[in-house]
Amino acid sequence: MLELLTSFNNYIRLSNRIALFKNSNPFIMKFKLSKYMHVIDDPEILDSTAIIYSTRTGISIEMSKRVLDHVMSMNFDQIPDDIMAKIIQMEVFVPENQEELHEILESNKLGVTDSDKYLLTYVIQPSGNCQLGCHYCGQSHTNKVMSQEILDLSYQRIIEKYTAMRDTIREMHITWYGGEPLTGLSALAQLSYRLIEFAKEKGIKYSSDIITNGLNLKYSLFEKLVNDNQITQYQITVDGMKEFHDKRRMLKNGAESFDVIMNNIESVVHSALYKEKAHINFRCNVDAENKETVLDFIDYLQERGILQHISFYVAPIHDWGDNKATIKGVSKQEFADFEIEVYMRLLEHNRLKSTTVVPERVKKPCMVVSQTSEVFDAFGNISTCWEVPYTPYYDDTKYYSGNLLKDAKISTDNAHMRNWFNEIPTNDSWCKSCKFLPLCGGACPKDWYEGTPACPSFKFNIEDRLLLQRYINNQS
Ligand code: SF4
Ligand code: SF4
Repeated sequence: MLELLTSFNNYIRLSNRIALFKNSNPFIMKFKLSKYMHVIDDPEILDSTAIIYSTRTGISIEMSKRVLDHVMSMNFDQIPDDIMAKIIQMEVFVPENQEELHEILESNKLGVTDSDKYLLTYVIQPSGNCQLGCHYCGQSHTNKVMSQEILDLSYQRIIEKYTAMRDTIREMHITWYGGEPLTGLSALAQLSYRLIEFAKEKGIKYSSDIITNGLNLKYSLFEKLVNDNQITQYQITVDGMKEFHDKRRMLKNGAESFDVIMNNIESVVHSALYKEKAHINFRCNVDAENKETVLDFIDYLQERGILQHISFYVAPIHDWGDNKATIKGVSKQEFADFEIEVYMRLLEHNRLKSTTVVPERVKKPCMVVSQTSEVFDAFGNISTCWEVPYTPYYDDTKYYSGNLLKDAKISTDNAHMRNWFNEIPTNDSWCKSCKFLPLCGGACPKDWYEGTPACPSFKFNIEDRLLLQRYINNQS
């Protein structure tokens, strides 16, 4: 096989590389087992085989236990060529003198720098208001929509960034967030119109998504958002069945929101426009209160003809801006176990892909590490993390870089958390010694700053995920 690989020496073809290992001359190159892997070899789980999952590459392989022994002992001569080829591709063996943590962090930095060269991403929060009064929300809402002055300054700052990088920038992506962004519709519509025109004029790609509560998302508005504002990706949160959703995501005056949101979504997902151009990702926040009803909710979405057209995921309610929302929460392990139940139910409805179950290599945990990503809110505040605006806990903290009205040219190059990858080797997080680092990049830097371990659910259910992936692949 003459497949070209990316690790170590890109110019060495695979057949040569297998030979390199099998004839390994101790004076030329020595190898060690990567610390970034997870092995399932428990006979109670798999009787005659074992799975190696490399978190450096997000690739897994199943083999006999006999071959596993040879891999773990690095008996290169005893490993069949086809498995050896995959194992090399997975970076299970690494040069003995390689400092792997350094290697992963440098590769992350390079990945972010590369994407920063061609991609500008902004989160714009055009309204500080929201119709809902969710108990777990850390924001404080006010009747504030982005003024014309702040809108102009936001536009100008994006254009200046583009101009400074115009030789390499090829793409601009805007995320509309809030408060509820659709309560700032006039600002959203005007700003996106101007940015779309600008992108057209410069010949760069424009795309955008929105995080909305779905309450205002009538089909007529959806049509405008897709056609006029090029918003094609929608994240909408519904917290399970009506009786639970309405207790948690009620209007500020206490009125129910479930029926309105679900009717909106139903008319959207059955439209030709949605099928052609848009996608909804359903988020369901989970805590001890609603956990038991989420599986019923999945069935309900199926019966209503919605599940077939959306993606669905669950998220644990977390402490946002010290609001103690986790007080009714479930533990990380309980949530991870429950997430597998959710996957199983989605699988029953044929709505689970094997590719979404096991995490892939991730070089950017979130926008904070990207030099070409910023957040603007309706007051003109500039930050680099989208959980900061409208959250009183962060007022007057270094999570804000500045304000457009005071200094429209302020730099965010060294904003709080921007240099997260440089901090990992010496900070208080557990990431420096964690085998999952290549998959999450440390997850949420802000959580670690606030003393809350940010570990994603896959840390707690990776074996179930790998077995589920194996099951799905064996069915197809
Ligand atoms: S620091 Fe955390 S909350 Fe902020 S954008 Fe990143 S992942 Fe989200
Ligand atoms: S956030 Fe958690 S799972 Fe991710 S690298 Fe850090 S310690 Fe590991």
